[in-house]
Amino acid sequence: MSKPEFQREAKKHLGQHFLHEKGIIAKIVQAVDPKPGDRLVEIGPGQGAITFPLLDRHGSLTVIEFDRDLIEPLTEASKAHGALTIVHRDVLKVDFSDIAGDTQIRLVGNLPYNLSSPILFHALDHADAIRDMHFMLQKEVVDRMAAEPGSKVYGRLSVMLQAYCRVTPLFKVPPGAFRPPPKVDSAVVRMVPRARDEIAVQDRKRFEHVVRAAFGQRRKTLRNALNGVADSALIEAAGLRPDARAEQVDVPGFIRLANLPST
Ligand code: SAM
Repeated sequence: MSKPEFQREAKKHLGQHFLHEKGIIAKIVQAVDPKPGDRLVEIGPGQGAITFPLLDRHGSLTVIEFDRDLIEPLTEASKAHGALTIVHRDVLKVDFSDIAGDTQIRLVGNLPYNLSSPILFHALDHADAIRDMHFMLQKEVVDRMAAEPGSKVYGRLSVMLQAYCRVTPLFKVPPGAFRPPPKVDSAVVRMVPRARDEIAVQDRKRFEHVVRAAFGQRRKTLRNALNGVADSALIEAAGLRPDARAEQVDVPGFIRLANLPST
């Protein structure tokens, strides 16, 4: 058990569940394994559970925190640990490219679970500026992110994230590791954005459109779910069966389909 350097009452609307298990915090720092020169950025430092151990190890860190009540105590407590830069903003309004400058940042965070998907998609928008990400999320979300075709939880999130990143679930975290405990299990996941020349998607908007339509009605065949988006001839030209369902189509299959001209 790790005692926070300062304590504030957790705010539910900001998804605040503060980590206090020393062993889990150490595992996160170990997974990130910062090296000299790395540009570390933490989303939602809260009471500093991960922040201060990372600072002790690395010497410098930028954090993005929305809760105004945490800014002053974070500033004060950081003085004993290292150089902390605090960005007091909604992370969804932060342009990671600005923080990265001409390098790439390494993102870390025990994310507010109510914003997990928006934050993941926001990170995808700035993938060029990001070297890797280590996030604590609901375990159910991590399962969806890493799911393979045929799995019940394979869906839009799996396809969108895997097309742009390598997704590796690392370890599970029980509710008791947080105060207050969330109602669900959590897990830490690593995501490494693919290099530009490794990304096969030609038009992200079209790709998103196809994937969203396919899974919008996941019980339907591709032919029906993609009505108005891609016809049977196009589906076949992508090497897919029009009577297949979205959950049977792998990521390269969706990419082939979205890359075909759709007149
Ligand atoms: N890192 C701390 C820990 O592990 O104990 C706190 C994690 S808590 C689950 C999520 C943190 O994200 C809180 O500090 C919360 O205030 C912050 N947060 C919530 N919404 C945010 C937003 N839109 N932008 C930036 N930070 C946000």
